[in-house]
Amino acid sequence: MEKTYAEIEKKILEARDISLVSHINPDGDNIGSILGLGAALRKMGKDVHILKVDDIPKNLLFLPRVEEIKPMEKRPDLLFVLDSSDEGRLGDGSKEILKANYIINIDHHKSNTLFGDINLVDASMSSTGEMVYDLIDFLGVELDNEIATPIYTAINSDTGSFRYESTSPDTLRKAANLLEFVDNKVEITKNLYQSRTKVQTEVIKIVLNNLESFDDLSLIIGKISLNDLERLGAQSDDTEGVVPFINEIEGYDVAIFLKEKEEGIVRVSARSKEVCDVSILCEKFDGGGHKRAAGATIEGNLDEAIEKLISAYKEL
Ligand code: AMP
Ligand code: MN
Ligand code: MN
Repeated sequence: MEKTYAEIEKKILEARDISLVSHINPDGDNIGSILGLGAALRKMGKDVHILKVDDIPKNLLFLPRVEEIKPMEKRPDLLFVLDSSDEGRLGDGSKEILKANYIINIDHHKSNTLFGDINLVDASMSSTGEMVYDLIDFLGVELDNEIATPIYTAINSDTGSFRYESTSPDTLRKAANLLEFVDNKVEITKNLYQSRTKVQTEVIKIVLNNLESFDDLSLIIGKISLNDLERLGAQSDDTEGVVPFINEIEGYDVAIFLKEKEEGIVRVSARSKEVCDVSILCEKFDGGGHKRAAGATIEGNLDEAIEKLISAYKEL
């Protein structure tokens, strides 16, 4: 790892112009990590561009300098890709973005395809935010609010407020150091955990009314149809927070949320508490993720997706 950090440092020092790219359906870990590393690189005197590939969820718009995340304008020289397991996570424009002269891939997904020129991948890390913390520490950049707030937000959100199994003693030590520099921690909590909108609440009501539980499989499934989503006028981030909610129900190791994204296309979000490695389940559908949180896309309607998932789950 030390050697990889030194290689990354060398590339940073040589570059004048550095780009960092977000992923599709960006989450707190992704946006927080790019903003935090971006702020540190700026502090080192670099010209920093943060590239947008998808809409940023409303509850992350409080982060410092989030408004500077913009679509790509020119081919990146040195490019950081953070929190993205493969090139596909960069969306439709990925081919253009990946024409960058040099790519540094920093991630904590064990399914990472090592697509970078330098790959810093560590599946034991709770979040990409934690890895960015270590890199900034190695670079010797002093923390301040603009660096600490997004990175603390990244770690906090990918650990479900430091609850998930991936939270280690080191995770908490890093979070503690960051918190020393965070100006407004109430704003972080409010945005991450106390910002459920009316539409998001309506989505949860529908999902809870239609839960399907499979007690013998320790599995519970929630779902919502395209029809219902359209009726509510729900945007893509209006289904955020549904799967963690279902996963709070006692007695089921695996919680799955299915969203009919388009006619015949179902988006899967899976979580587990203790036993099942849901990344293996999602890999069966060309998706991926982590042991306790993973995702995929399945072709078919909701009932067909449930059938396919159950038979894949039984195989595990
Ligand atoms: P989600 O259920 O969308 O919150 O995703 C849970 C985790 O799985 C996140 O860490 C995602 O990065 C990962 N993930 C979701 N969808 C995919 C996919 N299609 N391919 C690879 N990883 C995914
Ligand atoms: Mn992510
Ligand atoms: Mn992450």
